[in-house]
Amino acid sequence: MPSVHRGNFPNRQTQFSARRQKIMQQKKSLPIASVEKRLVKEVRKNDVLIIVGETGSGKTTQIPQFLLDAGLCRDGRVIGITQPRRVAAVTVAKRVAEECGVELGQKVGYSVRFDDTTSGSTRIKYMTDGLLLREALLDPYLSKYSVIIVDEAHERTVHTDVLMGLLKKVQLARSSSVTDGQSGRFHKMPRHEKYAPLKLIIMSASLDARAFSEYFGGAKAVHIQGRQFPVDIFYTRIAETDYLDASLITIFQIHLEEGPGDILVFLTGQEEIESVERLINEKLPQLPQENQKLLIVPIFAALPSEQQMRVFAPAPSGFRKVILATNIAETSVTIPGIKYVIDPGFVKARSYDPGKGMESLIIVPTSKSQALQRSGRAGREGPGKCFRLYPEKEFDKLEDSTMPEIKRCNLSNVILQLKALGVDDILGFDFIEKPSRAAITKSLEELFLLGALTDECLLSDPVGHQMARLPLDPIYSKALILASEFNCLEEMLITVALLSVESIFYTPRDKLEEARTATKCFSSPEGDHITLINVYRACNDFLEKRSMEMGIAKTEKVFRKWCKENYINSRSLRHARDIHKQIKGHVEQMGLNLSSCGDDMLQFRRCLAASFFLNAAVKQPEGTYRALASGQVVQIHPSSVLFRKKPECVIFNELVQTNNKYVRNLTRVDYLWLTELAPQYYAMQN
Ligand code: ADP
Ligand code: MG
Repeated sequence: MPSVHRGNFPNRQTQFSARRQKIMQQKKSLPIASVEKRLVKEVRKNDVLIIVGETGSGKTTQIPQFLLDAGLCRDGRVIGITQPRRVAAVTVAKRVAEECGVELGQKVGYSVRFDDTTSGSTRIKYMTDGLLLREALLDPYLSKYSVIIVDEAHERTVHTDVLMGLLKKVQLARSSSVTDGQSGRFHKMPRHEKYAPLKLIIMSASLDARAFSEYFGGAKAVHIQGRQFPVDIFYTRIAETDYLDASLITIFQIHLEEGPGDILVFLTGQEEIESVERLINEKLPQLPQENQKLLIVPIFAALPSEQQMRVFAPAPSGFRKVILATNIAETSVTIPGIKYVIDPGFVKARSYDPGKGMESLIIVPTSKSQALQRSGRAGREGPGKCFRLYPEKEFDKLEDSTMPEIKRCNLSNVILQLKALGVDDILGFDFIEKPSRAAITKSLEELFLLGALTDECLLSDPVGHQMARLPLDPIYSKALILASEFNCLEEMLITVALLSVESIFYTPRDKLEEARTATKCFSSPEGDHITLINVYRACNDFLEKRSMEMGIAKTEKVFRKWCKENYINSRSLRHARDIHKQIKGHVEQMGLNLSSCGDDMLQFRRCLAASFFLNAAVKQPEGTYRALASGQVVQIHPSSVLFRKKPECVIFNELVQTNNKYVRNLTRVDYLWLTELAPQYYAMQN
């Protein structure tokens, strides 16, 4: 072989083909492989098909490939697969690209908010359900798709629910068998012969397909046999007071006493995962050398996508892998090699009280079906064990299944999108499960107060349309539009990016004092928003200076070092920097005025008051606060820079409910600004 690389080349080639062979073998051994022909036949026969199959049977990765091979996306059309979670869309697309032996972004790609890898040649496109809803704004007939697969429908996210209603409409408008009488009901969406019919597939991991089938007029459901080995379930004798501590003890117990096999731990979010990761790393060196072979891999949404793929790689020989995951690993992604599951029994969920108009994230017990899914992860490749960190009698008290998100979230976001799609009668929209009238009314009122809707409840021009174009919560979109008028859009972009990630401050429990000293130089007496901006800018300035000295290649290392020294969470800050770049692109495209208020933070605070007037609170004599819109009594969260100062009047961005109700991310404002800048609300109240 006349090659200069002669020495390496054959070796790499062998490695490569060994990996391909292994992948082909894995593909063939999946339960779904034996029913390919039958599935393709059913898809051809039915316009709507419901596919139910156990997690890990191969639905998400294989079915799109079957359909592509069977020629179900002719004329350059696309097979779209929606996922409730971005991590699933990203990791599965990478896996399928590898299975197909193509580069990601060519035949197989993904598109999620703030990250699109698709191209003109993409035929299998993984995306989030929210992203497909946004695409419908630009292409109401979703004309480039020949098949749309709504995956993980059992999760019943608010986007999945709304998407199903929309897809029903789109399918009807694209169907050739519809009479004009029928399509007349959808006067906003007349039938269009120009578009080929659309196939819909609804996929779910829960056995109960009835609700979906009924919703789609008695659609056919097929069940795929899974393969499940027995899993022994263990409960604790008494209730645990600290489930993080209990998880830690259980991890080490398994590691020291049980045979080989990886461990999967279900935690509720990034902060918990990072804290358990740290605790394991602190404890590990105290073990005898031969017991130190633990490989810890976290997985959660805000992890950079290269790092998300690490969970799939096998641990080095002799090592045991411990995966610290959010409920992403429940049904969305299947990680090979797991034999032990630790389930503390909690999940972070959205909760909304329409009476008070406040949405919050709370940690709640899982449902029975979630607990079953979690334990099932231990028995995919052989018998396994699941450790539930609560007493058995607690299991019996759990709800059977989780309440659909649409019944427990603020609807402003989806209502704004439905309005932008031409659905004016929200109460009359064909939801699979209707949200309460109170929740709809409250969200309509909120959109009206933000200026997105007119008196007639129609999308306002230009504000409503601009808000619908931005991929953010309406209240943040409005803040950016206002900031352009207040000449502080640069500051607001940073703020919105930082509010979109989990806390950027890194405060290990045992180093609270050190962390406090390190971050003191950023803190602003006016509140958390300006403090956040100070951190962001200090980091940028530092990187700019250093990258000139040492070149771009080393900036990543310098970035991590800077974060470490300043007790900043580098993962969160990096994520916020990405988001910042993306939103900046959006607002530039919209032609908003990208200016900075410089050192005039008064201007910026006034803009915060004008934007977040719905979240204002005033101090009460005893030092607590009263939220003006809801009348709730709240307290300042200890992490706020205003915790000790307690100004008379504040705006806040987040309500956290534990034993008490806390507000987080606050800035001091003047009460009079509220009446001046939001008279539509405060004049009315007075
Ligand atoms: P389902 O959608 O039915 O739950 P999937 O199609 O997601 O199943 O998974 C099928 C198989 O592919 C599983 O055995 C899983 O372990 C494997 N798999 C998925 N993604 C990856 C990956 N990135 N690396 C290795 N294996 C993967
Ligand atoms: Mg799946």
